[in-house]
Amino acid sequence: MKILVVLENADGRVKPASWSAVEFARQVATTHGGEVVGLVMGHQVAEVATQAAGFLPVHVMDNAVLAQPLAETQGAAVAQAVTSLGVDLVVAATTSWSKDVVGRAAGTLGGAMAGDVIGHEVVDGSLRLRRPVYAGAYVATVVLHGWPQIVTVRSAAYAMSAPLDAPASVSPLAVSLPEAQGTFVGLEARTGGRPDPTEATVVVSGGRAIKTAAEFETLIGGLADKLGGAAGSSRALVDAGVAANDLQIGQTGKVVAPDLYVAVGLSGAIQHLAGMSGSKTVVAINKDREAPIFAVADIGYIGDVHQVVPELLKRLP
Ligand SMILES: Cc1cc2nc3c(=O)[nH]c(=O)nc-3n(C[C@H](O)[C@H](O)[C@H](O)COP(=O)(O)OP(=O)(O)OC[C@H]3O[C@@H](n4cnc5c(N)ncnc54)[C@H](O)[C@@H]3O)c2cc1C
Repeated sequence: MKILVVLENADGRVKPASWSAVEFARQVATTHGGEVVGLVMGHQVAEVATQAAGFLPVHVMDNAVLAQPLAETQGAAVAQAVTSLGVDLVVAATTSWSKDVVGRAAGTLGGAMAGDVIGHEVVDGSLRLRRPVYAGAYVATVVLHGWPQIVTVRSAAYAMSAPLDAPASVSPLAVSLPEAQGTFVGLEARTGGRPDPTEATVVVSGGRAIKTAAEFETLIGGLADKLGGAAGSSRALVDAGVAANDLQIGQTGKVVAPDLYVAVGLSGAIQHLAGMSGSKTVVAINKDREAPIFAVADIGYIGDVHQVVPELLKRLP
């Protein structure tokens, strides 16, 4: 079995979530038998390729058309790599980017896909994949049929792979792409200059208790800054225009698994829990002692966020 890990990159480095995808691929190759290689795509990505080669042999598609993270071009490039390398299993981390790019490649290739895989086993030579369904209320075990198989892996479910003792090979891979049909204008991450919640070890998330964008910035952003973490949000705040869409945690938002998750004035609806239940320690602040978030919290504080958070901001160094 030939396994290709599609490595997401930005700002000249491989995104950390991709190392968990490498770990999944390595484990499958160990139990199922197979070879694991990586794919780095973009423009002027030699540095990224060198970093990646510290973990696995890499193929590099370096082309000006791939400079932007567009599914139209990068999805087509992944599909070309799969065909030209004769890949059986394509793996990437579950991220907003892979939902777009790898999903498009799967559609182009006509393969079988399982997204957001949290576990696997090989039974009688067949790869069984576990993935949450119904907002995490159940875990389905699936076997993919058809070629190629395409899997995205929840990074919280797999450790980051260890680097190799010596760097592996870097091989250029030809890519022939049509001109983009649209004009790329820009990509703006509205994380307020803070880390992306999917990459942070601390996430402070606000819920409906927060009423305005200014309050979100002061209380949620302020606490995130004090703790050196990222800001996150429930969907209620995103829908109300209080928090940016990029910050939504949950079933239809981002999936995070930080060391510390601070839930500030959010109820803990099942769709929100689907995005943060992998957090190592959960602290909840809520004025309603019956709020479902307390069922998953390691530490709970019953109180008004407008009193508790300013007090925390005062006391934290
Ligand atoms: C298909 C689908 C997908 C969804 N996807 C997501 C998703 O990805 N992410 C997500 O978050 N939601 C998602 N939702 C919405 C979800 O069901 C909830 O509506 C949402 O999470 C509620 O947000 P909240 O906890 O901020 O608000 P609420 O449920 O209204 O909770 C507010 C909480 O704040 C507490 N509170 C209020 N004032 C204060 C105060 N002053 N001090 C302390 N505590 C206070 C209240 O006691 C309450 O517990 C989805 C829903 C559907 C149907």
